[in-house]
Amino acid sequence: MCKSNSCYMNEAVTLAHQCLEDKLRSPFGCVIVHKNEIVGVGKEAIKVKNDPTAHAEIEAIRNASKKLKTIDLSDCILFTSSEPCSMCLSAIHWSQIKAVYYACSRKDVFSFGLPDAFELVEKRKNLNKDALKKFEMIQIKNEKAIEVFREWRSRQKTGQKHLVKCN
Ligand SMILES: [Zn+2]
Repeated sequence: MCKSNSCYMNEAVTLAHQCLEDKLRSPFGCVIVHKNEIVGVGKEAIKVKNDPTAHAEIEAIRNASKKLKTIDLSDCILFTSSEPCSMCLSAIHWSQIKAVYYACSRKDVFSFGLPDAFELVEKRKNLNKDALKKFEMIQIKNEKAIEVFREWRSRQKTGQKHLVKCN
């Protein structure tokens, strides 16, 4: 069981890593923690569900709200493998989550060939500044999170299916 922020981050990165096994998924993972327990998990599922809003963070928020039977996640912390986009930041605001930890920055994601994600994050500058002040956002650098993108990119190029060791 996790007791540290870096351990929760590893759980989010593991979900991102699992996405490499499914050609329909992009490598993004998220967990939501409530009272030191993971109550929500999410993997990117846009093509899997034919749902353009099925980002890892949205999936995890839906999962946590369902489990806790509330729309108020103000006692929860969100850990995500990559810096959230503007849609997810808005969802985080509406769910009242108070702190967000992310591993890869938007620039990292951009460097691995996901320009759309980069553009979306840039749009968050236009979001209501008061709304964004309601939660903290902190980067926890995580080499495995970068490694997931490295592996994702190399699979895009080579079409390989083997899984890199993640531990
Ligand atoms: Zn998003």
